Amino acid sequence: MSRFLNSRYSALEAYVPGEQPQDKAYIKLNTNELPYPPSPEVLAALGKGALEELRLYSDPACGRLREKLASFYGCKKECVFVSNGSDDILNFAFMAFGKNGAAFADITYGFYPVFAELNGVAAKIIPLRPDFTIDPRDYYGLNRLVLIANPNAPTGVALPVEEIERVARQNPDGVVLVDEAYVDFGAQSCVKLTRKYDNLIVCMTYSKSRAMAGARLGFAIANPSLIADIDLLKYSTNPYNVNRMTLLCGEAALDSEAYYREKCALVAKTRDAAAKELQEMGFYVLPSKANFLFVKKDGFCGERLYKSLKECGILVRHFKAERIRDFVRITVGTPEDMDILLENIAQTAQGR
Ligand SMILES: *Cc1c(COP(=O)(O)O)cnc(C)c1O
Repeated sequence: MSRFLNSRYSALEAYVPGEQPQDKAYIKLNTNELPYPPSPEVLAALGKGALEELRLYSDPACGRLREKLASFYGCKKECVFVSNGSDDILNFAFMAFGKNGAAFADITYGFYPVFAELNGVAAKIIPLRPDFTIDPRDYYGLNRLVLIANPNAPTGVALPVEEIERVARQNPDGVVLVDEAYVDFGAQSCVKLTRKYDNLIVCMTYSKSRAMAGARLGFAIANPSLIADIDLLKYSTNPYNVNRMTLLCGEAALDSEAYYREKCALVAKTRDAAAKELQEMGFYVLPSKANFLFVKKDGFCGERLYKSLKECGILVRHFKAERIRDFVRITVGTPEDMDILLENIAQTAQGR
């Protein structure tokens, strides 16, 4: 740290992303990417003409993509905000709506506490129940920025839409942000509720179900006045925050709904099969509606399992937080990836 850094940031603990090895040496089950490539329409989206246009700035309003997302999700264009990954939207939400503080679970997306700290937003941390479910009643009457990842990460556990609706209704004076990064793998979306509740934002991403983590594209759907607030912050920081290539790929992906629906269904099927096998091997597996499994086994140290799998060429994610240190989070890969994983876990168990 230099002596020039604003003291406001000297205690900031940055988010630690999962490992991103730059070789192909691993079966990569650690950052919840889709194991399949983007759709054929996306692969064809960037011709020579599009690349030549890179000399021009991108459309700061992201007009065409917002139009397409609006018709895809059945809302008005004014209800859609597009961003450089959904992490950006989360940051804007803390900036814009965190005046009275924020509230989120003790076990949830690790970026929330970082954004709270970064923006000087006081955070109320609400413990999950012993079975790692959210008790929605803990979120009533908070009237500050409430963040709920649904399905939650890294647990994969989802809440029904009616429960989230109650949280929105019980916090009329606070914004409720539902982070639906994993919704396409089997949970229910709250998008429709954004028409009814002027305090509800639904945040989604192309990084997981649309196989575009490397393109950095996220979006939010909410009442137009909330979108206008986030827009104010975007235009005050980086108006061209989504590049031309990503915009074109994002538009093309919306022409491929059948492709993505099929891949998400395949991932869900692979997930459920792997969950069953892990349970048969004696693992405790949280019921996941996401594209990952959160698992532990008595007598297995989470960190040791992570390390021994890494030695076998398989990357999974381990978190050091006290309550979940026994677990590992396993992204659902192809059926072949999962076979190799399960075989290695079985061997690890034997060699113990
Ligand atoms: C992956 C993830 C995001 C954000 O991903 P981006 O790549 O920035 O769009 C947001 N929330 C949760 C819970 C995630 O797991």
